[in-house]
Amino acid sequence: MIFHILTIFPDLFAGPFAHGVVKRAKDAGILDIRIHDLRNWTHDRHRTVDDRPFGGAEGMVLKCKPIFDAVESIWPSRVESQKVLLLSAQGRMFDQAMANRLKDNAELLMICGRYEGVDERVAEHLADDEISIGNYVLSGGELAAAVVIDTVARLLPGVLGNQASSEFESFSEGGHGEGLLDCPQWTRPAEFRGWKVPDVLVNGNHAEIAKFRKAAAREKTRRLRPDLL
Ligand code: SAH
Repeated sequence: MIFHILTIFPDLFAGPFAHGVVKRAKDAGILDIRIHDLRNWTHDRHRTVDDRPFGGAEGMVLKCKPIFDAVESIWPSRVESQKVLLLSAQGRMFDQAMANRLKDNAELLMICGRYEGVDERVAEHLADDEISIGNYVLSGGELAAAVVIDTVARLLPGVLGNQASSEFESFSEGGHGEGLLDCPQWTRPAEFRGWKVPDVLVNGNHAEIAKFRKAAAREKTRRLRPDLL
């Protein structure tokens, strides 16, 4: 799968994809992440990407022309499995189900807003979807794009070591998940500062452990995320 990022801060992405499973997947050729500097599609001396909002308001807005030009030069003829996503505080909420749908595309292109946002014609006439990673305002779409890429990347076949592991996680329908939180986990030592690991995990059999995990996942969901029940 190929991920494209359109941004005015390409250097911001030096870190997020250089570690862990995403880096390994990149090295293995399972995915590719291409960072595009929006200023490459400007033609004036100052490489202007923003302008003042019509009607007067605070701040600046990213212009539509460089963004349209960039997307149309990255994909001269776009096909169904090449999706343009606009990261936006006003977007539909990103979640695991959306990540699961996005992973079936061949390529995703993420447009990162800055300043007060992006000329609305990008949302209306260029983006396939406008997506938000949460009910808060970031200073740019770059961290949001990194979140989306990280989440989708680990769903691709071969990215996680254990094929099954993404099916049994929080928000997934498989296993004890049922769309709930994952069960809590412990590792050695079995006792730390007097706090003991649940006995069943140390001494129990497979059936008991499975039952315990299901109950623990439900209990934690009820306590921290009752909205998921
Ligand atoms: N004036 C806008 C916020 C602009 S923030 C508003 O009030 O809705 C600047 C950019 O950061 C946005 O264009 C978007 O690309 C990004 N951004 C901010 N919050 C985000 C969020 N919750 N999810 C995804 N992108 C976000």
